[in-house]
Amino acid sequence: MSDLFPALAAGSDRRALRFGERALTYGELAGAAGSLAARISTARRVAVWATPTLETAVGVVAALLAGVPAVPLNPKTGERELGHIVADSAPSVVLAGPDDELPPALGHLERIDIPVAGPGGPLPQEPDPEAPALIVYTSGTTGPPKGAVLPRRAIATTLDALEDAWQWTADDVLVHGLPLFHVHGLILGVLGPLRRGGEVRHLGRFTTQGVARELAAGGTMLFGVPTMYHRLAEALDTDRELAKALTGARLLVSGSAALPPHDHERIAAATGRRVIERYGMTETLMNTSIRADGEARPGTVGVPLRGVELRLVDESDGIGEIQVRGPNLFTEYLNRPDATQAAFDGDWFRTGDMASRDADGYIRIVGRKATDLIKSGGYKIGAGEIENALLEHPGVREAAVTGEPDADLGERIVAWIVPADPSGPPAPEELSAHVAAQLAPHKRPREVRFLDALPRNDMGKILKRALHG
Ligand code: ATP
Ligand code: MG
Repeated sequence: MSDLFPALAAGSDRRALRFGERALTYGELAGAAGSLAARISTARRVAVWATPTLETAVGVVAALLAGVPAVPLNPKTGERELGHIVADSAPSVVLAGPDDELPPALGHLERIDIPVAGPGGPLPQEPDPEAPALIVYTSGTTGPPKGAVLPRRAIATTLDALEDAWQWTADDVLVHGLPLFHVHGLILGVLGPLRRGGEVRHLGRFTTQGVARELAAGGTMLFGVPTMYHRLAEALDTDRELAKALTGARLLVSGSAALPPHDHERIAAATGRRVIERYGMTETLMNTSIRADGEARPGTVGVPLRGVELRLVDESDGIGEIQVRGPNLFTEYLNRPDATQAAFDGDWFRTGDMASRDADGYIRIVGRKATDLIKSGGYKIGAGEIENALLEHPGVREAAVTGEPDADLGERIVAWIVPADPSGPPAPEELSAHVAAQLAPHKRPREVRFLDALPRNDMGKILKRALHG
């Protein structure tokens, strides 16, 4: 097991994990996870009820130690989707915290309560690097979630590429407020620090006060999604302690969706710090990032990580689909040979994300091919840049842009707006004129629809398919 977590085998007194008042050293984690690993070693596949707790971290580490594929489950998933995921992944055992109440969809599984202490002993032999280590379901932004089979080779590769890009060391203390059932919160946020021999401090639930407190108390890195950075940007208007804490952090990282340049600039203005963006997905883990020693350019996700090859395919108007190749890739979608085959062009993975490239190689994601690329009046237009322009208007709190069939234009640009002041939303003509002035006349929304909130998933991603009803 020295392959993924060298610090665990060393079993030191350094702190590995802290969730609220409860913490484990590397030695204690090796004891707890090692004893659980011995109990589950004959299971074919285990599900982990992935609450944001110490138990989840121990459960996943135990499965990795045992070489038993683990499927992290989102506890907030509705019965129908949970039923689909459980039927698809067919675990025999579910690992849960002793106080967790499990839903009926998991009633047929053997339940094992996750211990947070154990006698320790020698850790098992390291399993095959190509064997499935985790099966992580995609976020379901564009359709029903698919189970991406991730070998430990992909996990180790991506974490080491991030070490290189972010100068990530054992002295880093990660402040963490993300859920633990996706790549961002689990692989980067928990397995990342454990691989480096550093510390994870989980907030339980993200609050701007929690971030300020933990960064002031020795946290060096913060991982977040754009909705979190948006809340930090808002809180910075009044919270001096938060500004001080963010200024003192070594690294602020955003990912999972595009960080609007407007929020990037607000945080930079208040703290002098630039948020670093990285781009990845469940199937490929991390593809690109701004480097810790590089320039953080708002609106870009940096350059390919070490070992990752990236190309833009079918480029026109400077925009093409991102395809990637490298040891960071998943093996297949579980039970979906059709989808796996469709996702590859030889050994290149089709990300479905559209991007352009700056002269020096920085990648700018324009949006998803399926939902964010609008073909209007003979132009190929990315929804993202229009959304960013709208977010700069003081009357706009949230914005999403879609294309709708139009007899004349092919597609017409529609803006979905959550106004900053619901009692006095800006005039649609004013928003259209603002976009035309910022970008170009053909990029202006032809129609503006006001909403109380945008439909988003647990990671704060906008669900555009729900906008269309
Ligand atoms: P599904 O595949 O089920 O529709 P999903 O693609 O949202 O859901 P994930 O694998 O969690 O599931 O998310 C990966 C996607 O998130 C990427 O393909 C990309 O569209 C988006 N993404 C991730 N990081 C960034 C970023 N920094 N900027 C813009 N988009 C990002
Ligand atoms: Mg996807």
